[in-house]
Amino acid sequence: MVGKENLKTEDLNLCFEKMMMIGGGKVKMEGRVITDWKDIPMELLLQILTLVDDQTVIISSGVCRGWRDAIGLGLTRLSLSWCNKNMNNLVLSLAPKFTRLQTLILRQDKPQLEDNAVQSIANFCHDLQVLDLSKSFKLSDRSLYALAHGCPNLTKLNISGCSAFSDIALEYLAGFCQKLKVLNLCGCSRAASDRALQAIGRYCNELQCLNLGWCEEVGDVGVMSLAYGCPDLRIVDLCGCVQITDDSVVALANRCPHLRSLGLYYCQNITDRAMYSLAQSLVKNKPAAMWESRKSRNDEEGLKTLNISQCTALTPSAVQAVCDSFPALHTCSGRHSLIMSGCLNLTSVHCACAVQAHRTPAAFAHSAH
Ligand SMILES: [Zn+2]
Repeated sequence: MVGKENLKTEDLNLCFEKMMMIGGGKVKMEGRVITDWKDIPMELLLQILTLVDDQTVIISSGVCRGWRDAIGLGLTRLSLSWCNKNMNNLVLSLAPKFTRLQTLILRQDKPQLEDNAVQSIANFCHDLQVLDLSKSFKLSDRSLYALAHGCPNLTKLNISGCSAFSDIALEYLAGFCQKLKVLNLCGCSRAASDRALQAIGRYCNELQCLNLGWCEEVGDVGVMSLAYGCPDLRIVDLCGCVQITDDSVVALANRCPHLRSLGLYYCQNITDRAMYSLAQSLVKNKPAAMWESRKSRNDEEGLKTLNISQCTALTPSAVQAVCDSFPALHTCSGRHSLIMSGCLNLTSVHCACAVQAHRTPAAFAHSAH
């Protein structure tokens, strides 16, 4: 692994000389004799580049035309998140070279990316499946329109914190990128409207994970469209979606049998009705579960995480019913998967561990006799 410091051509020379010393002055490969590092076969070069960091890969692509072409054809994954200035120019220069990219991580601490960089990605990287543009405050709808046309194979898109996108542009993207499985819209308060969610429910039927954290425009109409259109939903974060009511949760409970994680933090309209529908969902979605005892039920099924912090209208009996239905939900310390901070009236809700811990000393006392 090469360190973070800039790797110069001389360093590459040195590496090659070391390799030559180990090989006795010459390295034989596939019948060819290599005397210069520029002669390394493409397969070996790409293998070496999987071991070094992304800065080194970029520098290596500038060594000679042969390396540039080889890396351009072989490189499928790149992260530029380490780049805290000039990321925009770097993307503009790299996108035309690295046309086979499938994964591109452009997460930023301070916003650098502009629409022309995303347009360049969309023009050249048509195989892109995973794109992280989180915290790109400067991007406008032009970026989403470009991605819709240029990157129809996207399965994972993170535009969290891209607050300038509109719902019309997101709706447009959903119509073209129908293979999306993971979509992070956290903080996209303008884009994540009911209208956009209806389009996602209509077109992106393979969606599994959706983050709508702090998208305050989201209402029941949008969430219900998702629940009906995306039956494979597993992870849904609605934290801070202050408008949603029980209808959203009931739809998810009834329509999404693979739901594993649900975030309802600060959804203060949520009442016991939502909790009882979750508690019943396993039975409704899989009638056979009725005949199995709770213990023998597969741990892979049902909710594994539920965040109901600040859902102050909930009562202990309803939340206990959810906890009892899903063995993977825990309130015990260290396994906090049923999260209910700020719900002072729910302190009596406990997972099965608490009951067992209460019983164990008695069992010890009994076996000692
Ligand atoms: Zn527990």
